[in-house]
Amino acid sequence: MAKIQMTTPLVEMDGDEMTRILWRMIKEELLLPYIDLKTEYYDLGLENRNATDDQVTVDSAKATLKHGVAVKCATITPNGARMKEYQLKEMWKSPNGTVRAILDGTVFRAPILVKGIVPYVKNWEKPITIARHAYGDVYKNTEIKVPGPGKAELVFTAPDGTQIRETIHEFDGPGILQGIHNTEKSIESFARACFSYAVDTRQDLWFSTKDTISKKYDHTFKDIFQELYDREYREKFEELGIEYFYTLIDDAVARVIRSEGGFIWACKNYDGDVMSDMVATAYGDLSMMTSVLVSPSGVYEYEAAHGTVQRHYYKHLKGEETSTNSIATIFAWTGALNKRGELDKNSELCAFAKRLERACIKTVEDGKMTKSLSLISTCEHPVILNSLDFIKAIRETFDALEG
Ligand code: NAP
Ligand code: MG
Repeated sequence: MAKIQMTTPLVEMDGDEMTRILWRMIKEELLLPYIDLKTEYYDLGLENRNATDDQVTVDSAKATLKHGVAVKCATITPNGARMKEYQLKEMWKSPNGTVRAILDGTVFRAPILVKGIVPYVKNWEKPITIARHAYGDVYKNTEIKVPGPGKAELVFTAPDGTQIRETIHEFDGPGILQGIHNTEKSIESFARACFSYAVDTRQDLWFSTKDTISKKYDHTFKDIFQELYDREYREKFEELGIEYFYTLIDDAVARVIRSEGGFIWACKNYDGDVMSDMVATAYGDLSMMTSVLVSPSGVYEYEAAHGTVQRHYYKHLKGEETSTNSIATIFAWTGALNKRGELDKNSELCAFAKRLERACIKTVEDGKMTKSLSLISTCEHPVILNSLDFIKAIRETFDALEG
């Protein structure tokens, strides 16, 4: 059979540890035999980030802006232990943070659903995608541990020296203080990414904050979303028969639990951090979550939501067998290939991506899975496969599927 041709390269960001091992297996077993794979390769493995003073991460993000679609392997975010382990020149920043800053993107995370892995919330039949605003609020805060009595004020000084001043609290004893901020520009980028992604995936968009309590801070988020919707997206939503609505975060939580899924839930930074862990856990586990970074200009970077699975990697290095789930990493590839196919009007490439996704799901539904999946599956006699054999089983399923 002739291999599928590609016209535009994908930006390929290689990564670290166990996921780097899976990356090669996926390419060799599931992609290269079928596609004349065109990628622009960037090695974001920690050694090469260190060797290039992290320039490779910046270059890969710039290439993504140029080509429009990237696929990324999980990468190590260095900490003290990694400094020693890899003898790093510097504690390089999180590659995801660097890429996100250059793309000005929003991260959308969605679970991959398979029969036999039943969500804890029984009525969730479709995926819930969480969009997390990834700028500001408590993640860029300033804090003071108040030693004793005194007056705390919030002061803003304009370039011409004029000030706005509010009293926060008159302390009569020790306490704590926190200052947080956000910018209209960042909120609007977030809103734009959410509306575009809703249109792109034809799903309803929910947005929630606590505007009844936070009448200026959270209310500004609500207003920016509403104004942008009315100005640029309302018509498109109505045309597609999808809905945008705003609701209080408390109400959203209650409705999410009662829902059947199948929508995007946009959250402020902290809410998104917490709620995405809740949603991921309730659907099964992190190794079945995909993640896509969408820029307001319509650039896409696909990856798995999980990390480099370090513990498995050390077993692998010792020559022990691993049973690491590659599905989320495969879905990063299929997401990127499908998007590339859409942009290049390459229907063969889109069909390949969809078929490979069906093959992953069918393999698990047929009872062949990795160890972590067997622990949460209702399948009575699962066949537990090692990392490579699981990928080979997916290939067998793929070959047997109708185009
Ligand atoms: P992790 O790699 O997601 O792994 C945490 C645990 O979850 C694993 O030890 C494993 O449990 C289980 N797990 C995760 N993915 C799995 C899979 N595909 N198959 C089977 N089990 C899976 O998170 P971490 O251990 O906190 O972080 C390791 C490294 O990844 C860190 O250096 C961190 O910086 C990096 N990281 C990168 C990204 C990213 O690039 N997007 C995201 C998160 C973390 P058992 O060991 O019990 O089997
Ligand atoms: Mg979290």
